[in-house]
Amino acid sequence: MTRLALRPGDPADLLIRGARLFDPTEGLDVTADLLVRGGEVAQIADAILPGDGVRVVEARGCTVLPGLVDPHVHLRVPGQEYKEDCATGSAAAARGGYTTILSMPNTDPAIDTGATLEAALERAAADAVVQVGFLAALSVGRAGEQLVEMRDLAERGAAGFTDDGSPVPSARLMRRALQYARPLGLPLALHEEEPSLTKGGHMHEGAVSAALGIGGWPGLAETLMVARDVRLAELEQAHIHLQHLSVRASVEEVARARERGVRVSAEATPHHLVLTDDVVRSLDANYKMNPPLATEDDRRALIEGLRSGAIDCIATDHAPHAIHEKEVPFEEAAFGVTGLETALPVIMEELVEPGHLPLDVVVRAMTEGPAAAFGLERPALRVGAPANLAVWDLGLTWTAGERGWASRSANSCFTGMRMRGACQLTVAGGIVAHEDRVERPVGVA
Ligand SMILES: [Zn+2]
Ligand SMILES: [Zn+2]
Repeated sequence: MTRLALRPGDPADLLIRGARLFDPTEGLDVTADLLVRGGEVAQIADAILPGDGVRVVEARGCTVLPGLVDPHVHLRVPGQEYKEDCATGSAAAARGGYTTILSMPNTDPAIDTGATLEAALERAAADAVVQVGFLAALSVGRAGEQLVEMRDLAERGAAGFTDDGSPVPSARLMRRALQYARPLGLPLALHEEEPSLTKGGHMHEGAVSAALGIGGWPGLAETLMVARDVRLAELEQAHIHLQHLSVRASVEEVARARERGVRVSAEATPHHLVLTDDVVRSLDANYKMNPPLATEDDRRALIEGLRSGAIDCIATDHAPHAIHEKEVPFEEAAFGVTGLETALPVIMEELVEPGHLPLDVVVRAMTEGPAAAFGLERPALRVGAPANLAVWDLGLTWTAGERGWASRSANSCFTGMRMRGACQLTVAGGIVAHEDRVERPVGVA
């Protein structure tokens, strides 16, 4: 059973008054009061009277959403705490309206033994302000040669298995991993990259890489591995979760596999949904990520994939790096960008507000989709459910980076861009995890 860890705290007694309550999975879209008591959603009704000791949060004009779930975060624990740790990473998550996040095992050392996994969970239980789970590595040392002790790691609470940061080059090892994972009921989360094709690549291979003279990374490197792994998952009737899809042909492979009944879930990141390789012309290393930003046609395919259901998760792939790893020439910079604090706001501004994606699709892909993919309890605005929710002012606009970051690292690819929607209050596991009541200036709609 997957273990989620959270720092202990006092359960909040809160009456959130007069907000729009929006949980599309529950079919809920009403303006009402919501009472949080004893760590759970205790009541949803009009004009609830606050009992003794209940704090009233006036939230007229705001929207309460279920807590977001991010299935792809790099907390850098253990061993790379100069980039991030459970305290700073979970604070960034809470600020972004997340109440559950899953952390990747490409750490130092890799989380590939029961003892390492338990130590990481203990760190989260001491420091994390939102619920944190960990995936274990798929292969020992993430070397792609020998499977980890999957049953032992599953029994100790791993949320799944992944060599994220690297692909699994051997089809034979992948097949065996699927055979072992299936009876455990846990997904394999796959970073799809054919390594012989991406060698020497720093950005998407295309017109922009040619113009800049930077080594290109063909989109086909992703699609070939997606095609291989959906066929292997089909053969072994196991569940694969495809991480950070970035190109049209991969989305098409997933859509076809779903039609055949293959158990496959898939992520798109906010940066691949919003940006293209055109921004790399600036040579700003904060536009360097793995997989790289691709073309406008690929970006549109990801958006269509969310609308059609071929892609069921929005994941940040929050990948903090220190300044010295990014403020270097483009080719030398580390791959990866942060994303927890900007995920919903950048999607609101760039995709929901202009009408490219409906809000209910976005909220489902940030709650229901990832919870289902990893068998986690879905945060819900439902009486009796654990209090995992956030109060948003979805109309408020702000500039990314202007108020600094809760993350230890600042390698956001959205710095300076206009965001829409500010998370004002996050309750995770019944405990207040974040509060930042930014009041709208009088007269501003
Ligand atoms: Zn990856
Ligand atoms: Zn990643």
